[in-house]
Amino acid sequence: MDNINLFEKAINSSENIVIFSHVNPDGDTLGSMIGLAKIIELNYNKKPTTVIIGKTPDTYAFLNSIDQCTSSINLDKEVCYDLAIAVDIAAKDRMVDMQDVYFNAKNTVNIDHHITNNGYGNINIIDGNASSTGEVLFDIVKKLNWKINKEIAELLYVAILTDTGGFRFENTSARVFNFASELTANGANPTNIYRKCYESKPKAMALLNAYAIQNAIFKENDKIAYTIITKEDMKNFNAKSDYTEGISEALRQINSTEVSMLLKEAENQTTKVSLRSKTINVAKIAESFGGGGHHYAAGCTIQKPPTIAIEKLLELVKKSLNE
Ligand code: 5GP
Ligand code: MN
Repeated sequence: MDNINLFEKAINSSENIVIFSHVNPDGDTLGSMIGLAKIIELNYNKKPTTVIIGKTPDTYAFLNSIDQCTSSINLDKEVCYDLAIAVDIAAKDRMVDMQDVYFNAKNTVNIDHHITNNGYGNINIIDGNASSTGEVLFDIVKKLNWKINKEIAELLYVAILTDTGGFRFENTSARVFNFASELTANGANPTNIYRKCYESKPKAMALLNAYAIQNAIFKENDKIAYTIITKEDMKNFNAKSDYTEGISEALRQINSTEVSMLLKEAENQTTKVSLRSKTINVAKIAESFGGGGHHYAAGCTIQKPPTIAIEKLLELVKKSLNE
């Protein structure tokens, strides 16, 4: 039996199901998590618990049924689930304080599209060629002949749209357009969803973005562009943690940029890094700090403050550019 059929068997034989999204949730992990919960509800008449690590990000508060998700802060962590499903979670540490709940479950599924995913579940459905976990999920929908409705179509469309950067990144394949077309035929409205994802930024987010670009530093003939955001900056702009989304991509938009980085000061003298590239494999660089991701988009947390973290990062990026 292949993994997709094993997954269906696991749903059939489980009553108590929980689905997890990753820390610092994005459109792919949230759209896929809620989409999968709705699919299981519609096709199997079971209602999985959906968990958001920390708080719901402002930018995705518009998602259908997101108000029904439980915050990890409030979840009863003593419950032993029949089935725990991780969506878009590249590595188990991205589950933070939810790792025990996941690994204590009787059965575990891992649905993802990160090449760096090591297959930590009992059943692993990982497609490194897929643009998004939303795409992996819609492929399962088709293979298992699952029913979908307008709400599910919208959620999966958000997942695919946001992880392809609005159908622009190199992961935008013919299959992505085929799936987007089918999701549109099932009721997802491209214009409405585009506006909610890209034309509904909080003012503070737009201003923080502009500030971060204004303060960018360029190295190696402008091939490297990076910017640092401190905790104090976040406070000054009254910014929530998800307001930094898109900054690293904005630096990659410059014609000279080959690698862009956002270094965000985090708790206890650590730095959260978002790497983007047009050429070199940044997943490899992120992996050397215990992170991961994709060839052109990756991330990690470095156990040093930004001004020190940048030195080590620059060293590795320069080396990779010169290889
Ligand atoms: P972002 O920079 O938008 O946070 O993440 C870019 C990509 O890298 C995403 O696909 C994300 O899953 C991955 N990524 C970001 N941070 C980490 C991390 O700390 N560990 C791992 N394994 N992947 C990460
Ligand atoms: Mn993803």
